Amino acid sequence: MRVPVPYVAALSSDLPPVEDDLCMEVPRNGVPHIAYMKPRPGDRDAHGNLWGRMTRVPGGRILFEAMDPVRQRECMEGLLCQVCARPAEREGGTLFIEWQHADERPMQLNRIRTDMPPLCPPCAALSLRHCSFLRRDQSVLLLRVRKSVPCGVAGTVYRVTPALDQWIPSEFDIYSSYSKPRYPGMIAVRMLRKLNGVSVVDPDSLATELEGTPSL
Ligand SMILES: [Zn+2]
Repeated sequence: MRVPVPYVAALSSDLPPVEDDLCMEVPRNGVPHIAYMKPRPGDRDAHGNLWGRMTRVPGGRILFEAMDPVRQRECMEGLLCQVCARPAEREGGTLFIEWQHADERPMQLNRIRTDMPPLCPPCAALSLRHCSFLRRDQSVLLLRVRKSVPCGVAGTVYRVTPALDQWIPSEFDIYSSYSKPRYPGMIAVRMLRKLNGVSVVDPDSLATELEGTPSL
């Protein structure tokens, strides 16, 4: 059986933005922030966050453990399945995956914030069965989510050199909530959603649900 390449997975050959592409811009609010030398439509989201650009270079390996920022954002904004990129939203609740590691505090289902885009039911069943990243991981939980709300972005915060002529990466994997002021030097690489109305799903019950589904 041919297992699809997850839409959201990064490729080892794709290149992230380089410092020479960046500049400082003074927007209408007067607070200088990071920008691209050559702006393109879609560089910033509706909250004004600048997003990481990837240069596509063919021929790379699929990195199952890493997500492409542009595709991650597309899936999270549109609630598209991270594997097949088709709509993942379902009336009875949308499926997400989370990890409950043994050395971490038990997950509180009403406090989950995730950067993992949802999955459509067939791809969720397929991934749990075949994805090398998920298959043998006992800590994986499949969740059915009544509602999810975009809550912020995560990314790298750059700081500007004293001569104000270059941005240098300074802090990694920083979360920026939509309800707080933006970091002027942030380049976002992941969008997050807060999950509401969450219940844990037995993956076997999902397989049963899908039996007889014509699309399979
Ligand atoms: Zn799918």
